[in-house]
Amino acid sequence: MIVKIIKGDITEVEAEAIVNAANSYLEHGGGVARAIVEKGGYIIQKESREYVRKYGPVPTDGVAVTSAGKLKAKYVIHAVGPRYGIEGEEKLEEAIRNALRKAEELKLSSIALPAISTGIYGYPYEICAEKMVKVIKEEYTNFKYLNTIIVSLYSEEAYNIFVEIFKREL
Ligand code: ADP
Repeated sequence: MIVKIIKGDITEVEAEAIVNAANSYLEHGGGVARAIVEKGGYIIQKESREYVRKYGPVPTDGVAVTSAGKLKAKYVIHAVGPRYGIEGEEKLEEAIRNALRKAEELKLSSIALPAISTGIYGYPYEICAEKMVKVIKEEYTNFKYLNTIIVSLYSEEAYNIFVEIFKREL
């Protein structure tokens, strides 16, 4: 398993799936979700609405898949993280786990993740980084297809914290 931590915009990352930090209604109005729809095109929002109409809102810790429009990726895996102080850390862990498992289920070799729940949803970067390391360590031996995990951090601060925690714990 190759794990890469990079600083930059996830919409530019070359991976077969990119993960979106979504809300339950898959309304991509702000943060990384907005960037994904702006770059990938309205098709992502349209398919997201169809998904919610058909299956209902995605639970906190759940995932939903749409195409990726004009992005380099094949799919967007929309992962719904918890809101800090309202929903527990275990939901962040499960959202990350479900995103990785979905990529494996789709037989993809690479996935890029943002720091789920650390923007509008308010989680500290440290908690997100610790959960990502934990889930990767627990899951990677189960993966047959997935061999590359890229974590794309938008700010210098987030990048530094993730590098430190991944170096220490992975
Ligand atoms: P949430 O609602 O789950 O907190 P946000 O989209 O508000 O989701 O933020 C999640 C993280 O994604 C934050 O750390 C934010 O800085 C980061 N982010 C925002 N835009 C991008 C982008 N284009 N690429 C990668 N990360 C991004």
